[in-house]
Amino acid sequence: MTIYCATSNPGKLREFQLAAPDFDVRPLPKKVAPPEERGSTFEENAIAKAEYYGRFVDGYLFADDSGLEVDALGGAPGVYSARYAGEDATDEQNNALLLERLKHAEDRAARFVCAIALVKDGILVRAFCGSVEGRILHAARGSGGFGYDPLFFHEPFGCTFGEAAIEDKMKVSHRAQALNAMFTYLRSSAATS
Ligand code: IMP
Repeated sequence: MTIYCATSNPGKLREFQLAAPDFDVRPLPKKVAPPEERGSTFEENAIAKAEYYGRFVDGYLFADDSGLEVDALGGAPGVYSARYAGEDATDEQNNALLLERLKHAEDRAARFVCAIALVKDGILVRAFCGSVEGRILHAARGSGGFGYDPLFFHEPFGCTFGEAAIEDKMKVSHRAQALNAMFTYLRSSAATS
């Protein structure tokens, strides 16, 4: 089954394609200007993106919205994760700001959260969510992954997501959980239709 995904982030696209080898996961066939992200939750943003991009393709399309919630920062950067240090901030700038804000924090608990919205012919089908717990280190470790991965220490791995193999990250990640729920749903609806 072909399913389009709405992302311009190559790190995410790679994870999407790894999650379900039995699906033909494709980026949008043409370049479309992104919508503004105005929602106050990951789910609201994922639904808005999927409904927006879904108008440009026939059939199934999904969009995700994800980010990092840090307890000591009251859940920030949350839906602002990609632009924490400013509208066009790089991962390095976002990571540096996060370390600065957590300079005196003893509680380093954090989680990655992901919401995925699925549309068919532009109409919302369902949303799926996932999250994974970790803690924020005092310095980056590892060069794999993207975003906050080098700062995110996942206890069961004994290392950061930036040090973990992508295949291992995909067994536990917030995005993998939401994706697996969506692909399970699609397989079962294909089997019953
Ligand atoms: P989005 O593209 O609006 O969903 O923004 C997601 C942002 O959250 C990314 O740019 C990263 O900063 C952060 N993020 C989300 N998922 C991950 C992950 O798996 N690893 C590291 N950072 C992530």
